[in-house]
Amino acid sequence: MEVIFLGTGTSQGIPIIGSTHPVCLSNDSRDKRLRVSVLISWGEYQYVIDCGPDFRQQMLANNVSRIDGIVFTHEHADHTMGLDDIRPFFFRQGDIPIYAHKRVLGSLRLRFDYIFASENKYPGAPSVIENELTNTPFLLGDLDIIPINTFHNRLQVFGFRFKDFAYLTDVKTVEESERIKLKGVKVLVVNALRIEAHHSHFNLEEALEFIEEIKPERAYLTHISHLLGFHDQVEKILPENVFLAYDNLKITI
Ligand SMILES: [Zn+2]
Ligand SMILES: [Zn+2]
Repeated sequence: MEVIFLGTGTSQGIPIIGSTHPVCLSNDSRDKRLRVSVLISWGEYQYVIDCGPDFRQQMLANNVSRIDGIVFTHEHADHTMGLDDIRPFFFRQGDIPIYAHKRVLGSLRLRFDYIFASENKYPGAPSVIENELTNTPFLLGDLDIIPINTFHNRLQVFGFRFKDFAYLTDVKTVEESERIKLKGVKVLVVNALRIEAHHSHFNLEEALEFIEEIKPERAYLTHISHLLGFHDQVEKILPENVFLAYDNLKITI
């Protein structure tokens, strides 16, 4: 299984226009972050998790010419606003499968009504195949995926376990019954927004505590704001098996 971090930032964390914050002005490419997303591939299958406003740029940067579907964690704009840009995949492949909680599908239908229209569809608009996720395992390609139910302040968000790999973003709290589903995972991705506490995202300390409890072989931090600090400085203070993800980083599981 291969995972490419397409983006590791947030809408608050991408280099802010006009910002004079030293991390925004950094020359280290690892400090330049697009909105959070991963491309995950195994065998003949290839899926993206989330489809934010930088989706098109991310597909171009990684020469992605085919996707088997898009899995959504939740409906926030930094995770969904690139949906219109599935057009080239739709023209080549036909309707694109999407997987999301019922509430998230509802939100996408409102914002992209022309994509979901069942009649008098505007010519050229892409189409999707909706797959509603509940908190029970579902099939992607030939793999059973386990959803992990988490909370982003009060908003429900899905994380996903793909065999030995788990991807969680925009998490603030995870109930014990959901943490159990992560036991034995080899590679864990989890969000760490900044040093200071935040009402709806893990800060660095909370992310590290969570990793310490789950005990994966390796963990990668994502959904990072410039307020976390410079990549090379933050990496120096992390435990041996914890890394900061950065855009276009490729890992094998
Ligand atoms: Zn987010
Ligand atoms: Zn969010």
